[in-house]
Amino acid sequence: MKQFAVIGLGRFGSSVAKTLYNMGHDVLAIDSDEERIEEMVDSVTHCVQADALDEDALKALGIRNFEVVIVAIGKDIQASILVTVMLKEMGVKCVVVKAQNDLHGKVLAKIGADKIVYPERDMGAKVAHSLVSSNVLDHIELSPVHSILEVVAPDFLVGKSLRQSELRARYEVTIMAIKRDGDILVAPQPDEVIRENDILVAIGKNEKLRRLERE
Ligand code: ADP
Repeated sequence: MKQFAVIGLGRFGSSVAKTLYNMGHDVLAIDSDEERIEEMVDSVTHCVQADALDEDALKALGIRNFEVVIVAIGKDIQASILVTVMLKEMGVKCVVVKAQNDLHGKVLAKIGADKIVYPERDMGAKVAHSLVSSNVLDHIELSPVHSILEVVAPDFLVGKSLRQSELRARYEVTIMAIKRDGDILVAPQPDEVIRENDILVAIGKNEKLRRLERE
């Protein structure tokens, strides 16, 4: 069981807080808005109404003892940046911050945020892929050019071994895992034969991964 604090209980922050709590972790939820706090009372371990810009209030909550603090302040970019600086100065080991846009993300990286997440951007990319390609289940962007794609095996690969598929040799796409009948085959061997309804977890360049997407 880990101890988490979530600052800002908008759509993103409240979802993170509830999920962590439902997974059995200790969650302190903080928001300056009393209504947001009332809505969350039964969904987390502790709920506190406080302005996260008030350093003394954060200290009084013992914020530095939390293993991970998630800053989920949405629209107020200035507040998000100031709170992140304060948390790092207080010695919080892991500060995860939601960025509104690339510039916000860059600033957060410079001031020492340990992890920066872009929920809207990432979800937008996922939805776009699953709309265009009927077999894409998940898409994780690793860099602007590389991704991990989870796809239902396209017909042209069914019945072929990984070696015969030539995905790695010709397209530099690596199948990291195959999900089959509820099991997962991690790092499958080259002679593993792809079956119908297999789910392939592939890593590679975006342009090459597109070969696995079915319209
Ligand atoms: P989302 O897009 O995730 O819904 P919002 O911007 O709607 O994000 O929500 C951000 C939350 O952060 C709001 O509930 C707001 O009250 C809270 N918040 C904003 N500034 C502070 C602050 N200084 N201290 C504590 N909570 C804050």
